[in-house]
Amino acid sequence: MATDPPPSAPQSAPPPAPVTGVEDIQPAVFQPGAMNTASFSAGIAKTTTTQPNGSGRYAFNPEPGPLAIISDIHANLEALTAVLADIDGRGIKQIICLGDVVGYGPNPLECMDLVMKRCAFSLMGNHDFAIFFEPANFNPAAENASFWTRSQFDADGDVDRRNQRWRYLGSMPTRMSNDKFVCFHGSPRKPINEYVFSADIYSAPAKMMDIFRRIPHLCFVGHTHVPGVFVPDPDFYAPEELDNRYKITDETAMINVGSVGQPRDRNPNASYVILTEEAVEFIRIPYDVETTCNKIKSIDQLDNFLGIRLLDGR
Ligand code: ZN
Repeated sequence: MATDPPPSAPQSAPPPAPVTGVEDIQPAVFQPGAMNTASFSAGIAKTTTTQPNGSGRYAFNPEPGPLAIISDIHANLEALTAVLADIDGRGIKQIICLGDVVGYGPNPLECMDLVMKRCAFSLMGNHDFAIFFEPANFNPAAENASFWTRSQFDADGDVDRRNQRWRYLGSMPTRMSNDKFVCFHGSPRKPINEYVFSADIYSAPAKMMDIFRRIPHLCFVGHTHVPGVFVPDPDFYAPEELDNRYKITDETAMINVGSVGQPRDRNPNASYVILTEEAVEFIRIPYDVETTCNKIKSIDQLDNFLGIRLLDGR
């Protein structure tokens, strides 16, 4: 009786090569928001008063005194250093960041290191999410920029520093709250990704109502790169309409702090706000836009338009 040839042993694929430097910080081991920057190595991160409060929402209780709120730095080192210098010049000791530290711009590592060192915390923006997890609904220029940014994170030969940045990125919380204010990168409904535009007060009143239902009093957001104040009417006020100062009352308000590194309100100057007991002050800071633009143009993977748009803030 003829025998069939023994079946060949199943070919087992070789195990995938480990990704050097990030072995111990795969996304699965993270609980986003479980950031304890005090456990990061001394010298880069500083202790924060950020505490888990049991609901995936994190409380930050600022010390008395003014608080600088920055957002959407987008790897623009010239803009970030100009803003930090302005904050320091005013003697402001506390800074928080609403996300999008990286993406689009030419200096992601330097900006990440500055945020880790100077900010009490940074929320996770959609571009930070893109670097750590994957780009979601990005146009080709933004997607290419995010892949390039990720390659920069991986290329640092200092494994500790590399892991520290990855750990920080993967631990960014998506929302923060305390008894004075709440903050998100995008919106209270969809913290990472939802845009709230001024046009929504006309075209999407139900959306605005739903958003304001989730805001106890003051809410700070970024994401659109357009600063201003939304009120529940619904209505929107550009900073110029308020003399760059929104006086805090009992009224509920959602304040967009604008963008440090890629303003889109036709004003190229970096934007941020200062929160005091009485008011929210909108600040614009000129910086060396040409240098940032030229750096972007010199990096093949970053679309030239990402530099050109900075020149006139669009
Ligand atoms: Zn952004």
